[in-house]
Amino acid sequence: MKFADLHTHTMFSDGTYTPAQLVAEASRLGLSAVAVSDHDSVDGIAAALEAARNTEIEVIPAIEMSTEYQGIEVHVLGYLIDRNSKKLADKLDFLRKNRVARVHYILKKLGSLGIELRAESVFDISGGASPGRMHIARAMVKEGLVSSTSEAFFRYIGDKSPAYVCGFRISPEEAINLIKDIGGIAVLAHPYILNRDELIPQFVEYGLGGIEVYYPEHTKAMVNSYLALAQRYDLIVTGGSDFHGEAKPEVKLGSTKVPYELVQIMKEARP
Ligand code: AMP
Ligand code: ZN
Ligand code: FE
Ligand code: FE
Repeated sequence: MKFADLHTHTMFSDGTYTPAQLVAEASRLGLSAVAVSDHDSVDGIAAALEAARNTEIEVIPAIEMSTEYQGIEVHVLGYLIDRNSKKLADKLDFLRKNRVARVHYILKKLGSLGIELRAESVFDISGGASPGRMHIARAMVKEGLVSSTSEAFFRYIGDKSPAYVCGFRISPEEAINLIKDIGGIAVLAHPYILNRDELIPQFVEYGLGGIEVYYPEHTKAMVNSYLALAQRYDLIVTGGSDFHGEAKPEVKLGSTKVPYELVQIMKEARP
């Protein structure tokens, strides 16, 4: 049977693998397809497609967009998007600048908690990538401010921690529209993290086309309830590991995977 891992990050956002390393690992594991879905970036897709040329692996162009809805963070995955769209590039440019400003804002909040971390330490780690909290967490470990990235999230920058800043200046509606506009399918990522199932009908009205039913932290009961929601709202079912390489060593590529048929269903459902 053919399988696909539809949720991964490379060093173009907060993962640690290069696109070529990701494709090589997917190939070693015998996956048939892997979606490169970096946070607010499509920069890793070209190299992944190149690495997958003349191999059995299919690279699915994707993105994971961070949006804000009534003060909460909502991640929207976009599959089979036109990564060369000018409209997308313009929006990602704006979001990148916003992410840089957000890092400074989070560092300021950390400072007020007595944790002094320089912006350079963070940007040294993120390099040319779309900067985020994982880079801050890694910088904190490097500077000896915490002993692990988990501690950084738990004590300081996790969604419910004191130095957390949401601050994504795009709504789910805008992200869903953009993804559809550039030929893609918009999928609600890891709905258990959002934990607001009552918002799903609204997102469906915006044009949401799928839901990430299979995810490492989803229990059997969650999977069943999301499958029921998918059926009820006629949503495509997806799933993936949310692989981040060494940034989250406990999550292995392909540890959550879905039958390749779901990729075919996604292709047929494209606008
Ligand atoms: P950001 O896009 O800057 O909001 O960061 C989101 C990313 O931070 C997620 O994709 C994960 O990689 C990481 N993250 C968020 N919460 C946690 C957590 N509690 N533990 C470890 N990593 C986390
Ligand atoms: Zn991430
Ligand atoms: Fe996410
Ligand atoms: Fe992710």
